Amino acid sequence: MSAQILDGKSIAADIREQVRMQVEQRTAAGQRPPGLVVVLVGDNPASQVYVRNKQLACEKAGFHSELIELPADTSETALLDLIDDLNGREDVDGILVQLPLPPGIDEHAVTERILPSKDVDGFHPYNIGRLALRMPLLRPCTPKGVMTLLGRTGISLEGQDAIVLGQSNIVGRPMFLELLAARCTPTVCHSRTRDLPEKVKRADIVVAAVGVPNFVQGDWVKPGAIVIDVGINRLEDGSLCGDVAFEAVKEVAGWITPVPGGVGPMTVATLLQNTLQAAELHAGRG
Ligand code: NAP
Repeated sequence: MSAQILDGKSIAADIREQVRMQVEQRTAAGQRPPGLVVVLVGDNPASQVYVRNKQLACEKAGFHSELIELPADTSETALLDLIDDLNGREDVDGILVQLPLPPGIDEHAVTERILPSKDVDGFHPYNIGRLALRMPLLRPCTPKGVMTLLGRTGISLEGQDAIVLGQSNIVGRPMFLELLAARCTPTVCHSRTRDLPEKVKRADIVVAAVGVPNFVQGDWVKPGAIVIDVGINRLEDGSLCGDVAFEAVKEVAGWITPVPGGVGPMTVATLLQNTLQAAELHAGRG
């Protein structure tokens, strides 16, 4: 039997429309639109594409959005000074510094400089800490988007065995915290994990975020499992593929996300949700 497809593109479109309508209501009531500033340092081509998509989505949602492009040789001090300025601007609700940053700039220092209430990426230790303590505020976009997708299956998450492949600060770790908060029993795997396929086989929910094309194989997956593919890998022929061997896994899984068109669009839609949430916080209604 073939898995049901979790269509991230269409679910993300619903969320974006909901956000757009809420922004319309805000502005009709005389409030300013939410403001997002995206900072791009250097000329990483993948980052340029991500930033363009985020900006376009902001414009369609009726946000005020600004892109600040800085050269690759920008100093850490100059970037921190810019963040201080943006922290102090009343028309800016969200600050997003696109990662990765060029060598020589400490990503942790930059992330920590952003005011937690403007940290719409949800990467600040304050926001990660709140998620860990089950009192979330601004939640990291990709794992939050995955939770939205899981919710759309209609399957209760409580008590489910979940496995997260990858332990990065931006995906794997907050993903673990999200699943735990939803009362799943999550396990996190990484490059030193032993017997990984056997661990995957026991899971009702699999979230793959390793950055290895077609890593998760069909015979690793428990029949009927929900398989979420966070990976975005560009192959030599220019095509995109995920971390899950889609064709084989879809014959075993109960639900599966495609790449492209799965988690990627959800990340952008969740960024809009977070920026609107930050605007509400700044207006004292969060
Ligand atoms: P990352 O920082 O490179 O982390 C990769 C993780 O995978 C690490 O924890 C690493 O283990 C683990 N890993 C690598 N090879 C492995 C193997 N053979 N067996 C087991 N674990 C292995 O990557 P990331 O930033 O989390 O991103 C992961 C993927 O998601 C990438 O393809 C990225 O492009 C994609 N992504 C997509 C979105 C989206 O919106 N869809 C957002 C962010 C990222 P160690 O820690 O032991 O090294």
